[in-house]
Amino acid sequence: MKSIPNILASHKALFLSQKTKDVSYRLSLLKALKTEIIKREQDVLDALHKDFKKSEFETYISEFGLVLSEINLAIKKLKSWSKPKRIRPSILTFPSIDYIYKEPYGSVLVIAPWNYPFLLALDPLIMAIAAGNTVVLKPSELTKNTSKVITQIIKQVFPEDVCISIEGGIPVATELLAQKWDYIFFTGSTRVGKIVAEAAAKHLTPVTLELGGKSPCIIDDTVDVKLVARRLVWGKLLNGGQTCIAPDFVIAKSNIKANLVKALKKEITRRYGENPMNSGDFPRIINSKNVKRLTALIENEHIPFGGDIDESTSYISPTLIDNPKLDSKIMSEEIFGPILPILNYDTEDDISHILSHIEKPLAFYMFSNDKKFSKKMIRTYSFGGGVINDTLVHFGNAKLPFGGIGASGIGNYHGKHGFDTFSHKKAIMKRGTWLDPSFRYPPYRGKINLLKKVFKYFG
Ligand code: NAD
Repeated sequence: MKSIPNILASHKALFLSQKTKDVSYRLSLLKALKTEIIKREQDVLDALHKDFKKSEFETYISEFGLVLSEINLAIKKLKSWSKPKRIRPSILTFPSIDYIYKEPYGSVLVIAPWNYPFLLALDPLIMAIAAGNTVVLKPSELTKNTSKVITQIIKQVFPEDVCISIEGGIPVATELLAQKWDYIFFTGSTRVGKIVAEAAAKHLTPVTLELGGKSPCIIDDTVDVKLVARRLVWGKLLNGGQTCIAPDFVIAKSNIKANLVKALKKEITRRYGENPMNSGDFPRIINSKNVKRLTALIENEHIPFGGDIDESTSYISPTLIDNPKLDSKIMSEEIFGPILPILNYDTEDDISHILSHIEKPLAFYMFSNDKKFSKKMIRTYSFGGGVINDTLVHFGNAKLPFGGIGASGIGNYHGKHGFDTFSHKKAIMKRGTWLDPSFRYPPYRGKINLLKKVFKYFG
């Protein structure tokens, strides 16, 4: 393979040739990508299973299927998304016809994490290509099997100077980040997000940072506890709890907490059996480093359920933690595993006190049948996106922008929001030549009063 600077140089040359500005060329790439992805379906499902025992069903519902819908949407809408959009003119600049042109940035770098290794590599890539950019993708080094299939798919579909996958760990990522890109799209931890932002700032490269955080789940006493347990256990344990928008911890109204814990235990056993280690549906922790990290998080905590760990097979059972202290380890970092701390509240001040200990999260969940209370919570706290009466599902509607705020990220994507993320909005005004009032030209004497009136009443 060519060196990284040479790859980037070839991408820049290809972009300058204007080839990717041609919408029908982009469409042909997307269609070829779709065909190849469908052809490699079983390889993708197998790779995810090899990487961390993710079941076929979970891979399909949370990765493969979502990639297919994103590519289908891009193919269907590309022509209309990429058309220049006519904008209402301003009276101040009369006569004119005004447009927004969607222009690709140029050479895009996409860095993907391991936890949804297929989805989070392909989703941004699809929209970056749809928008007319060239792409260098660095998939995660922790999911070697999936990254290999992704590299093969990309190699099969794209000319190397349009899109290429470069596998590798931190040294490769560091070398990539040292180059001058036109856009960087990063998904991963807040810690590495800061490294990416610093590298991008050196070249004033725009970034999208899709990061993580501690997403809370508030449950009041107006709910059907059984239904809450079903939806909460699903959202927490999908992907073995290794989901950026998984509910990180629960804040339950004190008078329902005991019932909720009972319902959660019952629900976990119902879904994964008495010993989830034997369930084909419960994924493993990605590596032993993370097993050690999670083990340290639950040390010294009260564990009313679970807590079984087998480091040799990267297994941690679904685990409930009762009332951890706000300054405990488990409440100080994103958990990213099948462990659910349950705190309680009596007043809204209690909720506010707990949430004041965490950074702005990526997601926020509310279970309540009290509309006024849910609305107040949703409006009071700052977070990326959220759901009332369920978990995770806001990810599934491509019309909703997906992204964080503050420590959980910058920017957003999905569907057209993704296309817009990878497009610069170029403002173009075409002035009429049939009228050219002399008002704006010097000498200005005697014109100021009319100018003030124009801005006060028409500006
Ligand atoms: P990570 O930050 O460790 O790694 C992400 C990517 O960055 C990988 O490709 C990795 O090779 C690269 N990387 C790691 N260290 C680097 C360094 N020092 N310099 C440059 N690049 C480096 O994250 P992860 O463990 O793969 O994923 C888990 C994290 O990602 C969690 O915090 C999770 O919340 C977050 N996440 C966010 C979203 C989202 O959409 N917002 C989605 C999935 C995961």
